[in-house]
Amino acid sequence: MSILVVGSVALDSVRTPMGEAKDALGGSASYFAAAARHFNRVVVVAVVGEDFPVAHMKMLEGLGVDLTSLERAKGATFRWAGEYEQDLNTRRTLDTQLNVFADFKPRLRPEHGEIEFVFLANIHPELQSGVLDQVKQPRYVVLDTMNYWIQGSRKALETTLARVDAVLLNDEEARLLSGHSNIYHAAKAVLDMGPSLVVVKKGEHGAVLIARDFVFVVPAFPLESVSDPTGAGDAFAGGFVGHLSTCADPRDQNALRAAAAHGVVCASFAVESFSLNRLATATRPEIDRRLVALRDLVRF
Ligand code: AMP
Repeated sequence: MSILVVGSVALDSVRTPMGEAKDALGGSASYFAAAARHFNRVVVVAVVGEDFPVAHMKMLEGLGVDLTSLERAKGATFRWAGEYEQDLNTRRTLDTQLNVFADFKPRLRPEHGEIEFVFLANIHPELQSGVLDQVKQPRYVVLDTMNYWIQGSRKALETTLARVDAVLLNDEEARLLSGHSNIYHAAKAVLDMGPSLVVVKKGEHGAVLIARDFVFVVPAFPLESVSDPTGAGDAFAGGFVGHLSTCADPRDQNALRAAAAHGVVCASFAVESFSLNRLATATRPEIDRRLVALRDLVRF
């Protein structure tokens, strides 16, 4: 069983109250892969430029991530810059440079079209659809997006949304996409667009799963030290899709609840350091220990 992800592989410049990183390895697909690799083999579909350090490729390959569908194109790598306020919940995007992503046409190797679990990470919705077109029999597809695409490419996003099982949004994105301010009304409106599950990410407060027949709330894993929240959403997705890829029925409510728990645990490793540093060293026993602690946290 493998997992396919299309998304950004990026060079991020991030400033938080805890410090800063310049041109560090980032991108939605990178964070996702570093988390999901604990559960199954992950194939990354993305593009980087000539300036992308070989050391970063080696690091991802060293984690067991399959980069045979990662294209290296003429031009510069996707760059993103952001800064966080004191509370680490408010993020300002300072710069987004699509660079090689502007002309990227994802082409899957034929064997990668057989993969059944797909994560359409935050990237242009037409690229997300372009990848889905090449997947023969998807069993479970999860989509992530952001304001940038909701505002700039809404039509394309709605077309892609109609083809997925689950969508990940934060409160603000859910409101922007649906036009509703109440989060449950917003989620219901998004369910009407096609997915059977909406995952509302709530940063340091965890996540809420909203389906037609159930609601599930999972807290974030409590941490005393957070360095950089970048990639938390993608690492959550890595744990979420990763766990589902090990389940007999990925639509089963209990599988989805457990997947969310795996998601918040993976996210907790992502935020403990800048870039992928901590996520890359996390081990499966460490993940399992946090899962046990999380279960105890919500027991009453
Ligand atoms: P997250 O904190 O989970 O929202 O993910 C942050 C990652 O998403 C960073 O590593 C960025 O490189 C990447 N990113 C930010 N904006 C975009 C965008 N418009 N398209 C693709 N990836 C992006």
